[in-house]
Amino acid sequence: METKKLFLVHNQLSKLLSSLNQSGYQCIGPQVKDGVIVYDVLNDVRQLPWGVRDLQAPGKYRLDKTANPENAFGWANGAQAIKPLTFKSEETLWKVTRDENGQLAFKSIDPEAKPVAIIGARPCDLAAMLIMDKVFIEGAYKDVRYQARREKLFTVVVNCTAPSANCFCVGANGDVRAKDHFDLAMTELEDGFVVEVGSDAGQSIIEKLSLQPAAIEQIQTADQRLEAAAQSQTKKLPKGDLKEKLFNNLDSEKWNEIAKRCLSCTNCTQVCPTCFCHSEGDVPALDGASSEHKRLWDSCFTEGHSRLHSEVVRDDTAKRYRQWLIHKLGTWADQFGTSGCVGCGRCITWCPVGIDITEEAAALCSEQEKSK
Ligand code: SF4
Ligand code: SF4
Repeated sequence: METKKLFLVHNQLSKLLSSLNQSGYQCIGPQVKDGVIVYDVLNDVRQLPWGVRDLQAPGKYRLDKTANPENAFGWANGAQAIKPLTFKSEETLWKVTRDENGQLAFKSIDPEAKPVAIIGARPCDLAAMLIMDKVFIEGAYKDVRYQARREKLFTVVVNCTAPSANCFCVGANGDVRAKDHFDLAMTELEDGFVVEVGSDAGQSIIEKLSLQPAAIEQIQTADQRLEAAAQSQTKKLPKGDLKEKLFNNLDSEKWNEIAKRCLSCTNCTQVCPTCFCHSEGDVPALDGASSEHKRLWDSCFTEGHSRLHSEVVRDDTAKRYRQWLIHKLGTWADQFGTSGCVGCGRCITWCPVGIDITEEAAALCSEQEKSK
């Protein structure tokens, strides 16, 4: 959808919130909680992380003040992506109850899906959600829970002008700017946002705000900021056919070397916006009268997740890390036609021992180059 760009001054943000609320959306937005930026219910724009930036490095995350206290999006990303809005970390799929005659009754639990507007999703989060769409709703089997939430999600992307040292969306074939599939996309300047409308739903929200067109200088400044942000990223994934390169290294000693550092803690998979491994299990009530069948996020770093027909097929950390990396960067494309990595850098930041996917992939691929 090609529309002219508009300008929303900072003090009009609350009008955007009101417009969304009046249209029936619950707003979710970034805010500082317990020393980290998280997405939570946003009732007031004062909850946004004004004047905050994040300092990230392998295994490190700190918040600090920005030079401009008037900016709300001078940070890169927090531990959470927007994944939990559509793919819940825990939910009940069905419930079974037993009546006094011992008869069992099974009941499917419908997903709770209300209209939600996410304000401040990053372009990498949006890219990850498009990958999750392929996993959950574009294949042969649709996940009704994911689909119900996804269809009611309104996305306000805020383009990334302050990538962290761990971000590498550009080096993962992405961009600091969202190009499509959003409802609204905004780029923050000193005094407000250059706004692009990406959908009819976005148009109906924005036209209630009576915004002025963005000036040429404002559009140019936004473009310059995004260009500088893209240029500032130093990490990247190796080029070429990563699946072939990694498959040629299945027996590399490098996997064992990584396993000496990796704690199999699952952090990388929990923060990753595209990881979708989950398990299902039953939680019976103590009185034996009912039981809930639940779906929980799982991880390829757990022993249980590789249990097939009572055998554990990945019985050590080296095999689990290999599974994660090769699926994410290689075989994902066979399944979903895309890489499983959008370069958000979260797995690097939140790995307690600072294992860096870009460095490990580069080392494995260069090992293969050398052995040719
Ligand atoms: S693998 Fe790491 S960098 Fe890539 S999308 Fe997942 S968390 Fe982000
Ligand atoms: S790579 Fe890091 S975050 Fe992932 S399981 Fe190993 S120690 Fe945990």
